[in-house]
Amino acid sequence: MAADMHCHTTRSDGSDSPAFLVSLAARVGLTGLALTDHDCYAPHSLTQPLEAQYGIRVINGVECSCRDNIHGNKVHILCYNCKYPEAMQPVLQKTVQARLDAALQMIDKVAKLYPITPEMVMDGVGEGRFCGKQHIMLALMKAGYTTEMFGDVFHELFDKKTGRCFVPIVHTDVFETVKALRETGGVIVMAHPSVYGSIASLQDLIQAGIHGVELHHPRNKPHDIEILRQAVDEYRLLTTGGTDFHGYFVEKNRRRPLGTCTASSRELNALMETSSRLWAEN
Ligand SMILES: [Zn+2]
Ligand SMILES: [Zn+2]
Repeated sequence: MAADMHCHTTRSDGSDSPAFLVSLAARVGLTGLALTDHDCYAPHSLTQPLEAQYGIRVINGVECSCRDNIHGNKVHILCYNCKYPEAMQPVLQKTVQARLDAALQMIDKVAKLYPITPEMVMDGVGEGRFCGKQHIMLALMKAGYTTEMFGDVFHELFDKKTGRCFVPIVHTDVFETVKALRETGGVIVMAHPSVYGSIASLQDLIQAGIHGVELHHPRNKPHDIEILRQAVDEYRLLTTGGTDFHGYFVEKNRRRPLGTCTASSRELNALMETSSRLWAEN
């Protein structure tokens, strides 16, 4: 009886469709699944038919990519069950556009080495308009220049330090994002605190009004889990968990089957209770 509260589909940088994921979640025995694509909220019109078809709870969600300009690290913020999702659209659009701008610059550089075009890359991009390195690699795979997404070609082109074609994204400020998310009436959760050294932002994010932390994530480190547990007790934060599933659009050492890191039914119930309170207040 558990819910995987963090996964990605073709709407951002996952390899599988929302319907595939919900079907898979039902088959592995999950009682709930949250769709949390990057900067692309899963609306009721998407989740309700899937819930009806596969008989498990499908939670509306999003994962916002941000930067903490005070501490100088990246931070990802999850948000669930928004009453007014339109309130975060300006912030999400800013990130989507910044990512698209970076992708077009990367495609331009790659096109000098391989005969691909922006159209060939965009062909594999989903409705969230998330265009990333994976989508450029997909075009190179389709064109026959490599057989693997995260092999030598990927590292030659897109290694963050040495890649010939890597262009970083200018991320939205995390506190601006949390402010917008609070307007949505959704439940706000700090994602994978050990990734990007995001744990440095924890105290300021609590002050900014997040409701919980992703205590269960494959990449959380024991030392950070201790810090998180103390904060959870002190500030009465919610706790959630998820695999951060991306299908095969993720490097081998980070691949985790759906449902192998989860929130318990008690944690999901607490989150939904907070959600009901927020809906009543907003
Ligand atoms: Zn993330
Ligand atoms: Zn994620």
